[in-house]
Amino acid sequence: MDFAYTAEDEAFRAELRSWLDGHLPKFLTEWSESDDTSAEGGAGGIMRAMERRRAWQRTLNEGRWAAITWPVEWGGRAATVTQSVIYSEEMARYRTPGIYNANGLWQIGPMIIRWGSEEQKQRWVPNILNADDHWCQGFTEPEAGSDLANLRTTAIRDGDDYVLNGSKIWISSAHIAKWGLLLVRTDPTAIERGAKHEGITALIVDMEADGIDIRPIRDIAGEEMFCEIFFDDARQPVDSRLGGEGEGWLVAMGTLESERVGTAGLAITMRQDLDQIINLARAVNPRALDDPTIRERLARAHTDVEYTRLLNYRALSKILKGEKTWPEVPLAKLQWSHLAQTLAELAIDVLGPAALLAKGGPDAIDRGQWNRLYVFQRYTSIGAGTTEVQKNIIADRAIKLPKK
Ligand SMILES: Cc1cc2nc3c(=O)[nH]c(=O)nc-3n(C[C@H](O)[C@H](O)[C@H](O)COP(=O)(O)OP(=O)(O)OC[C@H]3O[C@@H](n4cnc5c(N)ncnc54)[C@H](O)[C@@H]3O)c2cc1C
Repeated sequence: MDFAYTAEDEAFRAELRSWLDGHLPKFLTEWSESDDTSAEGGAGGIMRAMERRRAWQRTLNEGRWAAITWPVEWGGRAATVTQSVIYSEEMARYRTPGIYNANGLWQIGPMIIRWGSEEQKQRWVPNILNADDHWCQGFTEPEAGSDLANLRTTAIRDGDDYVLNGSKIWISSAHIAKWGLLLVRTDPTAIERGAKHEGITALIVDMEADGIDIRPIRDIAGEEMFCEIFFDDARQPVDSRLGGEGEGWLVAMGTLESERVGTAGLAITMRQDLDQIINLARAVNPRALDDPTIRERLARAHTDVEYTRLLNYRALSKILKGEKTWPEVPLAKLQWSHLAQTLAELAIDVLGPAALLAKGGPDAIDRGQWNRLYVFQRYTSIGAGTTEVQKNIIADRAIKLPKK
């Protein structure tokens, strides 16, 4: 790895820091009475948190800091890969609030810019950028998760409409979304023909349309942030198709690639989490810090965070040299889920039994946020590609292990 930031990169960092110094404190003061959902479940808590996120995304947008990788004409800065790494690092360092439309800004917006007609861009790109509506990404189905191309929700053409039937599952925030980017099957014969990647189409769907039933699923943390969706003869206009009929796999692969960029801030937030755990333990459970087993685990976590930071820089260094980043990309995903779960488990052991108390309890530490983190982080080895699938990718494409 031979990596160093240039003077231009550092100037970009300074500009961002200066903007954050001017805007973030003011924003946080205005919203100080309204917390994130972490310690307060229920619909009221979620909606208040979403309003806070909407306000923060709009503040970012006013400064042209909401979607820096987007083209300038669509409100972005056409940021380089290095600049987006710096952006992730600084947003993590400042612990900025979450945004309203993460799916929209990171995945769906770039896809509409790349695949959409001029009319579709005019209609939806500003909507996403300015957090006017919430968007969800509807890919997974009961029989199509890791094997996404096995999806079976049909969209059969009838005049100027597609008629949708089938179901999706685990779709994040579908119940608060006005729009969804969905993958549907416009050629139902493709699976039988042994060509399951064909006949898939990307469709922008009005989630409030007739024939669409969205049912939130309560997760392990007691929150209702992802949903099942049922389609029963739901009609959607053909002109909301993104890309050509049958081109959905291409559109989706672009979307998922964007999902894998932007992990550079993780090493910073994880370092902050580790420091916070140790500082909190000094106050609530100091004897744990004398335990040799705990001390060894803390040291390992420290090393893991440092490894994650260097892994990100190695990937960036390779991208800048035009080299393929295998196996750094799947390794970074594995490292993220491993470390997220390790830190959450460590927090419970270091902070003592009260860390397991859930929100609402008078003795819960930090209003139950460590308990929530402990259960919630289980998702990191499933979402954005399961651990087993990432290992398959490394075995197949990086190590080139022989197949049976
Ligand atoms: C918090 C959360 C939010 C999500 N949000 C969304 C969303 O917004 N939109 C959306 O479309 N989806 C979403 N998902 C769904 C997610 O993409 C899927 O859960 C994921 O792709 C795995 O699919 P699956 O759940 O069907 O599991 P499966 O694919 O059925 O996997 C089950 C188990 O089998 C293993 N496995 C599967 N195939 C192989 C293989 N070839 N070799 C070895 N092991 C294998 C897996 O690793 C896993 O352990 C979300 C999931 C979570 C947890």
